[in-house]
Amino acid sequence: MIEGTARKQPDPAPARRACARLVPFGAALTAAHYVPSAVVLGQWGPFCTLFGELCRWQGPRASTRVALTFDDGPDPEGTPRVLDALDELGLRATFFVLGERVRAHPDLVEEIARRGHQLATHGDEHARHLARSPLWVRRDLARARDAMALLGHAPRWYRPAYGQPSGSTLAVARAMGLRTVLWSAWGREWVAPGPGEVAARVARRLRPGAIVLLHDSDRFGPWGMWRRALGALPLVAAELRRRRLTSVTMDELVP
Ligand SMILES: [Zn+2]
Repeated sequence: MIEGTARKQPDPAPARRACARLVPFGAALTAAHYVPSAVVLGQWGPFCTLFGELCRWQGPRASTRVALTFDDGPDPEGTPRVLDALDELGLRATFFVLGERVRAHPDLVEEIARRGHQLATHGDEHARHLARSPLWVRRDLARARDAMALLGHAPRWYRPAYGQPSGSTLAVARAMGLRTVLWSAWGREWVAPGPGEVAARVARRLRPGAIVLLHDSDRFGPWGMWRRALGALPLVAAELRRRRLTSVTMDELVP
């Protein structure tokens, strides 16, 4: 080496130290985003309590109340039939409607409210949130809220599509004053061969404080989902009577 031409190399230690500090920070951020969804993907309802007020999955057990909930509407075929069945059976429910469907069928939204049921939001688009930014989630929820505000409704409850909230979903929903809720019992109408199986699945987890997930639309699942849910309703109603449970709205279950 010729004397005087050697350049002093920068000390890599500070960069390594800064990087080492950033790695756990990045890992924590990633975990905060993905862990809620991973928990929910496993349908480990009780683990949702880890997120406390950020995400509910059931109501108080010290009561005789349960909440029947319907996702993915309003649907011009399914929703009126479900509403008629609920009237006949004397059941009240909460409908988690999609903003894009609200704009398409505002008359059905009004009909849900007129019959004494509660309106809640399922977001605007029926999209998975794992790959979405907090900004995207905020815009989606704002559009859904605006669609309902045009009809004079202000949802308090929110259920993310596919029941898969990311950390961003939970944080944004809370910042917007929405209470995120999943479920503790479901009919899994998309894989159930008939209404009997839907009702049996619901009955297995039907207990005080239960939040029951059903669908009044086939739009985001296989054909027949709302028909199987509809067929299961008389059986679910009979099971509620047998266990002396009353179906109420989400607001009544969790004030
Ligand atoms: Zn849905």
